[in-house]
Amino acid sequence: MQQVTILGATGSIGVSTLDVLARHPERYSVYALSAHSRVAELAAQCAQFRPARAVVGTAAAAAELSALLKAKGLTTQVEHGEAALCAIASAAEVDTVMAAIVGAAGLAPTLAAARAGKKVLLANKEALVMSGQLFIDAAQQAGAVLLPIDSEHNAIFQCLPADYGRAPQGSGVAKILLTASGGPFLTRAVDTLDAVTPEQACKHPNWAMGRKISVDSATMMNKGLEVIEAHWLFGAPAEQIEVVIHPQSVIHSMVSYVDGSVLAQLGNPDMRTPIAHALAYPERIASGVAQLDLTQIATLQFERPDYARFPCLALAFAALRAGGTAPALLNAANEVAVQAFLDLRIGFRQIDRVIAQVVEALPHGAADSIEAVMAQDALARAAAERLIAGLTR
Ligand code: NAD
Ligand code: MG
Repeated sequence: MQQVTILGATGSIGVSTLDVLARHPERYSVYALSAHSRVAELAAQCAQFRPARAVVGTAAAAAELSALLKAKGLTTQVEHGEAALCAIASAAEVDTVMAAIVGAAGLAPTLAAARAGKKVLLANKEALVMSGQLFIDAAQQAGAVLLPIDSEHNAIFQCLPADYGRAPQGSGVAKILLTASGGPFLTRAVDTLDAVTPEQACKHPNWAMGRKISVDSATMMNKGLEVIEAHWLFGAPAEQIEVVIHPQSVIHSMVSYVDGSVLAQLGNPDMRTPIAHALAYPERIASGVAQLDLTQIATLQFERPDYARFPCLALAFAALRAGGTAPALLNAANEVAVQAFLDLRIGFRQIDRVIAQVVEALPHGAADSIEAVMAQDALARAAAERLIAGLTR
């Protein structure tokens, strides 16, 4: 029986994870669940999955959750705050941690799971983008198994040789082909992008996801973060990672080899497939996802990304090439700009301008400690907020 902690249980990935776990009660039991503020949803999850522990954001939310659980006659221990998140991610009872908190808030608990040598199912790409080599080293030193949940990286992982080290050249890999849907604005006239609303930006053509990653998909910063994520997960230099637009999201990514072979992983766009793959790896279990009907899909299209339409993609490649804390600055500025867009404080095209200006203004340093990374993260957040405060929409 595998004991699982889900960080970010009430989110899109968290809910999909619980859906897969519920299909295999003989294999998995839930040790702990976390949510930031959706207390009622977390209480319902606790009633269904009976975790030993539950963690929320604040003391007020903890009091509210405790009352709800007591009314249901549940004995789940309720805690709050970052230290508690780190505790449920690293507890001795836990085998597997699903890291599905959105953004930099997930770094400390995800790192705690890696340092405790857990099997870490990584959905929280921002944590890896920020901490890079520090995270990879921590996982390696503790013997943690890092399995990608991001559909592209999970696909790449499945297409790489089983004995793959972290040097693509050694295994005959020529390129990692990272597919991208292009999001909701792939064909929309560029001069109308300034007027798009958060609702339009969050309406992804193929995936139902949280609001932050949905906006990232619309700007293609999501693909940019995924390029950096692929660099760290697979040890591939920027030159070896190519973004290919594939609007149908049926091929989840590919690996091309020096002999001309290209291996692809295909499936319906449903995150339960990579979640089930990583949970059971190296076995396979049912995920609830329907089998792919290729005759129904009929056509698969591919095109090159347009960097003028999607400046965030170029900004991310530049941050990866710059190295050090540059990706942490990029990520922090993006998180602030996306939230400002969702709060109607800036327009859609101001997102990439804010990020570009913050990255330009702040010199990046060496990413030699988590403290250094967090300090840069804080600087970039403050700079982005100042910039946004001075902008008119
Ligand atoms: P979401 O917004 O639906 O859920 C986020 C979860 O994190 C919620 O449970 C929320 O309570 C929690 N959370 C938010 N802020 C927090 C904070 N400050 N402290 C503690 N917890 C906090 O997001 P999502 O779409 O499920 O995405 C989660 C992560 O997975 C992101 O990093 C995203 O990039 C990644 N991811 C998501 C998908 C997808 O299909 N949704 C695909 C690939 C990768
Ligand atoms: Mg993805």
